[in-house]
Amino acid sequence: MPAPLKLIDTTPQLPETADAVVIGGGIVGVFAAYYLARRGLKVALVEKGRIGAEQSSRNWGWCRQQNRDARELPMATKSLDLWERFAAESGEDTGFRRCGLFYLSNSEEELAGWARWRDFALTVGVTTHMLDSAEATERGRATGKPWKGGVFSPTDGTADPASAAPAVARAILKIGGTVHQSCAARGIETEGGRLSGVVTEHGTIRTKTAVLAGGAWASSFCRQFGIRFPQASVRSSILAVSPGAIGLPDALHTAAVSVTRRRDGGYTLAISGRGRVDPTPQQLRFAPQFLPMFARRWRSLAPGGLEGFRSGHESLTHWSLDAPTPMERMRILDPAVDKDTIRLTHSRALDLLPDLKNTSITAAWAGYIDSTPDGVPGIGEIAAVPGFILAAGFSGHGFGIGPGAGHLVADIVTGHEPIVDPRPYHPDRFRKSAWGQVADF
Ligand SMILES: Cc1cc2nc3c(=O)[nH]c(=O)nc-3n(C[C@H](O)[C@H](O)[C@H](O)COP(=O)(O)OP(=O)(O)OC[C@H]3O[C@@H](n4cnc5c(N)ncnc54)[C@H](O)[C@@H]3O)c2cc1C
Repeated sequence: MPAPLKLIDTTPQLPETADAVVIGGGIVGVFAAYYLARRGLKVALVEKGRIGAEQSSRNWGWCRQQNRDARELPMATKSLDLWERFAAESGEDTGFRRCGLFYLSNSEEELAGWARWRDFALTVGVTTHMLDSAEATERGRATGKPWKGGVFSPTDGTADPASAAPAVARAILKIGGTVHQSCAARGIETEGGRLSGVVTEHGTIRTKTAVLAGGAWASSFCRQFGIRFPQASVRSSILAVSPGAIGLPDALHTAAVSVTRRRDGGYTLAISGRGRVDPTPQQLRFAPQFLPMFARRWRSLAPGGLEGFRSGHESLTHWSLDAPTPMERMRILDPAVDKDTIRLTHSRALDLLPDLKNTSITAAWAGYIDSTPDGVPGIGEIAAVPGFILAAGFSGHGFGIGPGAGHLVADIVTGHEPIVDPRPYHPDRFRKSAWGQVADF
């Protein structure tokens, strides 16, 4: 069974003009469109498949500040507030709760790293609690094992991946924006060097602003008009189990396996950082830039197979604007599940939390996590094409920081005071090497 997803309706008629067109209906695109529409702009959101159907419904649902890289922490903090505010101001339910995130470890090295992060977080006003052995073992009693220590981050939380992006899309519709599913953007048009339109499979929308929130497809889209955006995807496989386990923490991370309570009372099980690298032409092209990232992460990554070629999101082809593109051939990126990882994850989870033996597997799926060379997203206007704003490469953190990223995009478009310092995110930095810059997470 695939990742669960709530479906929403589509606006039937594509507008001829818009103040802004947002390309991609993942969590980043929907929040960008939502904040633009709230400022009174006429916004059209185009999504090649279904709202939320790619990474944004396939994740664990963690919205965390804990262990965030210094460059992303301000956006993570603001996002937690925005998740809460969104529910109050829109009346829509994303399932967000500040349930706190809980980490357990028996590794002195890992605990020392968390303590260092706690000290840094205190300097920017973020509170997290280091737990000694007795506290960690007590809080982690569902494991039935002793622990050397842990962390509890009380202000962090989770939202529901199955309903979050659709809920935001419904809010866009309520405030006058339009949402067009099964509508791929094939490219852009320019006039006098400035963006002047977005060409979709159903017609062209005249606009001065386009936001590309295309997730794993962003680099190949940019390449069509000469913009170099280094991006690579890692295939991550996870599973869900039915309700039935009692007394488990809402969200627990250990090095072996992580467990997150789902809205239906079941749990999502996953191994943090584990993934397969499926070679693609784009990966070979950007390989030198990703060396620092892979050098850091190689232990948890394994070589994949031909999935990347089959999916087509990282091809180097140039397509024509008047014929179907790879995005129309692959409406929803749904890569093959790595069955070995699913088996290992499940057996580790049963070992960690014996009560999970009272549940059964309800679904297993994979998602391509789109990364940048330094693990920080690329958000900003592309100087070569005024009016074209990139918001992609969320490197495994985009769900939690989706509201902040969408807000920042709206700030950039409308010239408002940015919600966070935009400089660490600007795509210009990809011209330089990422050695020494890879995010800690
Ligand atoms: C297994 C897994 C676990 C994760 N766990 C977490 C977590 O716990 N917390 C966290 O913060 N993050 C997590 N992430 C990462 C998070 O899911 C992503 O960073 C985030 O969802 C990215 O959102 P997005 O909107 O940029 O991309 P996506 O959700 O991938 O959306 C991009 C959308 O753009 C559409 N699109 C692309 N090109 C076009 C086009 N030309 N025209 C029209 N539409 C187009 C696609 O169809 C897609 O729907 C996880 C990811 C995975 C896969």
